[in-house]
Amino acid sequence: MSDAVLEAVEGDITTQQVDAIVNAANSSLLGGGGVDGAIHAAAGPALLAECRELRQTRYAGGLPVGAAVATGAGNLPATWVIHTVGPNRHAGQTDPGLLASCFRSSLGEAGRVGARTVAFPAISAGIYGWDRHDVAEIAVATTRRALEAGVVPTPDGEVDLSGIELVRFVLFGRSVYDAFQRQLT
Ligand code: ADP
Repeated sequence: MSDAVLEAVEGDITTQQVDAIVNAANSSLLGGGGVDGAIHAAAGPALLAECRELRQTRYAGGLPVGAAVATGAGNLPATWVIHTVGPNRHAGQTDPGLLASCFRSSLGEAGRVGARTVAFPAISAGIYGWDRHDVAEIAVATTRRALEAGVVPTPDGEVDLSGIELVRFVLFGRSVYDAFQRQLT
């Protein structure tokens, strides 16, 4: 049984004092709109340079939907940015399993790098068009299940999540915050 704390706050993920923040990136890893743009703007060029490096090496074909990869965090207060690619509803990506995989894979990356505190945005609830209630339900259920299991499977083997103490969902706007808060209470 995990005693990690799950919480929701309304705010800007780029200012969070946590070990790792999760980015709702796109497959190119080279920046975009929404939270991705905000994270790159606040982190500065070092983040983009690391993402470019990943595109030239491990993820030459782009980061797959549902996968996650950690980089440094440039000028952000966090130590790591964990990039994950949510499913794009407008492109027909409606499988909840893909969105659950984003949360699981991101927790796996957090465990792998040794992050104890992790902040997530509402992945896919913006430009990618998912309903905020569906995102909140999948985010909270998947995170609870993974933390209770204490491990997640990843392509490189099982990762231990027992070091994770806090998962904070950082939501932009009252309506998304309310949707998450409802799942947490
Ligand atoms: P996606 O393409 O995965 O839908 P978006 O960035 O468009 O990602 O939106 C995901 C969620 O992140 C939306 O609820 C959006 O309002 C929110 N968001 C945008 N900027 C920030 C920010 N700075 N901090 C936290 N959440 C943000």
